[in-house]
Amino acid sequence: MEGVRGGRHRHSFPLPSLLLPLLLLLSSATPAAAAYAAEDAAAISRFRQYLQINTSHPNPDYAGTTAFILSLARELALDSEVLEFVPGKPLVLLKWPGRDPSLPSVLLNSHTDVVPAEPLKWAHPPFSAEVEPETGRIYARGSQDMKYVGAQYLEAVRRLRAAGFVPERTVYLSFVPDEEIGGRDGVGAFVAWERFRAMRVGVVLDEGLASSDGEYRVFHGERSVWWMVVRACGVSGHGAKLYDNSAMENLMKSVEVIRRFRAAQFDLVKNGVKAEGEVISVNMVYLKAGTTGFVMNLQPSEAEAGFDVRVPPNIDTEALERRIAEEWAPSSRNMTFEFKEKDSIHDMFGKPAVTSADSSNPWWTLLEGAIKRANGKLSKPEIFPASTDCHFFRKQGLPAFGFSPMANTPILLHDHNEFLNKAEYVKGVGIYESIIAAFASNGNHGSQSTSKGIKDEL
Ligand SMILES: [Zn+2]
Repeated sequence: MEGVRGGRHRHSFPLPSLLLPLLLLLSSATPAAAAYAAEDAAAISRFRQYLQINTSHPNPDYAGTTAFILSLARELALDSEVLEFVPGKPLVLLKWPGRDPSLPSVLLNSHTDVVPAEPLKWAHPPFSAEVEPETGRIYARGSQDMKYVGAQYLEAVRRLRAAGFVPERTVYLSFVPDEEIGGRDGVGAFVAWERFRAMRVGVVLDEGLASSDGEYRVFHGERSVWWMVVRACGVSGHGAKLYDNSAMENLMKSVEVIRRFRAAQFDLVKNGVKAEGEVISVNMVYLKAGTTGFVMNLQPSEAEAGFDVRVPPNIDTEALERRIAEEWAPSSRNMTFEFKEKDSIHDMFGKPAVTSADSSNPWWTLLEGAIKRANGKLSKPEIFPASTDCHFFRKQGLPAFGFSPMANTPILLHDHNEFLNKAEYVKGVGIYESIIAAFASNGNHGSQSTSKGIKDEL
C-alpha cells in the first residue's frame, strides 16, 4: 500500500454525514483533521478501557481482558480462539488470514497481565486511566508494560483494514497471561502447543522499553536468569570467641569477592564501555544465617546468601561457572552453591538465543525500513537487561524483536505513576501500521535485486 509506506498513513473516517459538519463547526479544522481527531480520540478511549481492567497479580481479571479483546476482534472481523493451557489463564489468539498461507506468518505478542500497584503512592488511581489535561499523560498500571503495545497492534490492524490492506502473510496476534510471573503458563505453554508449529511463525514482535530521547529502542536478545544460592558451613562457637573458618567469615569473604566482580561490571556500564544488557549483573537479594533463628551470643554453623545473576547471551558460561565454583563458593572454604533458576543462553539448536539485527536478517531490514517510513528513528539494537516472553520464542530458534514505540518517555514500568502520553500512543499506532504492512507484504519492498533475496529467505 503506497499510503502505508509513505509515512503516517491516514484513511478517511466513515463519520455519519450529519456529524461531520457539526464537528467542523465546533473545531474550525479541515474535514480530514476533524476526522483524524475523532479517530484518535476513539483509539485512546479503547486503550483506556483496556487499562481499566485490573489484571494485576495475584488475581488478574483475565475474564475481563478476554471479553474486551474478543469484542475488538469481532469489530475487526479477525478470527479468534481462546486457548486455556492452564485453567483460568486464557491466551487469546487472533488471526488475520493472509492471501498466501504457504508463507511463514507474523506473530504480534503482548501480555495482558500487569504487576501490582500501590494506589496510595500514585497521583491518580492506577486502574482509572485518567488523562491529565495539561500534559496529555494517561496514568495507569500497564500503560507502558505492556497493554499499550497490545492495544496498538489492534489499532494498527484497524487502520490497515479500513485502508483496504490485505496481508499476503497471515498475521497472528497473541494476548498472553502471566508474563509478569515467569510466563510458563502463558507463552511457555503456547510454544509447546502442538498447533504452534503449524502456525509457521516467521517472526515475532514483543515488548521493549521506553526511551527518554527521540529514538526508539529495539532489543534482539536478553540476559538469562541465573538465581543462585551460596552456602557456607563452619564451626559454631561462642559469640565472644575469635576463631578461623566460621560460616559467617567464609560467607563474607565470598560476598566481598562477588561485590568486587559486580563493581567491575558496573564500571563498564558507567564508563560507557558496555550497555547494561551486555554485562553480567549480580545483585545480592538476601542474607540468612543460623538454623534456629538469630542468637546474639552464638556464631552460627551455617550461613547463606541469594544472588540474582543475569547473563548476556554471548558470554562464555563455562568460564563463569568455573569462577563461581573456584572464587565465589570454593569448597576449600566449606562452601557450596545451587541454582534456583538457570536459563540457558542457547536456543534449542544450541546457538546463542540472539536475533540477528543487521542486513543478514531480512526481517531486520524490513523492520528498520518500516520504522523509517513512518518517520521513526531506531537506536542501536540492544540486549534486554531483564526477561520478557521473547526468550521463549528465541529458544525455539525464531527471530524475535522486543520493541515498544515509546520515545521521549521515562521508563516507568513496575514503578509508581506509570504513564504514557496520548500523542506518543497515537504516533506508535502509525509505527506499527507501517511495520505490519511491511512484514505482511511478502518482502516486495526495496529494489528488485534485494526483494528476490528477501522473498526467498523469508
Ligand atoms: Zn512486560
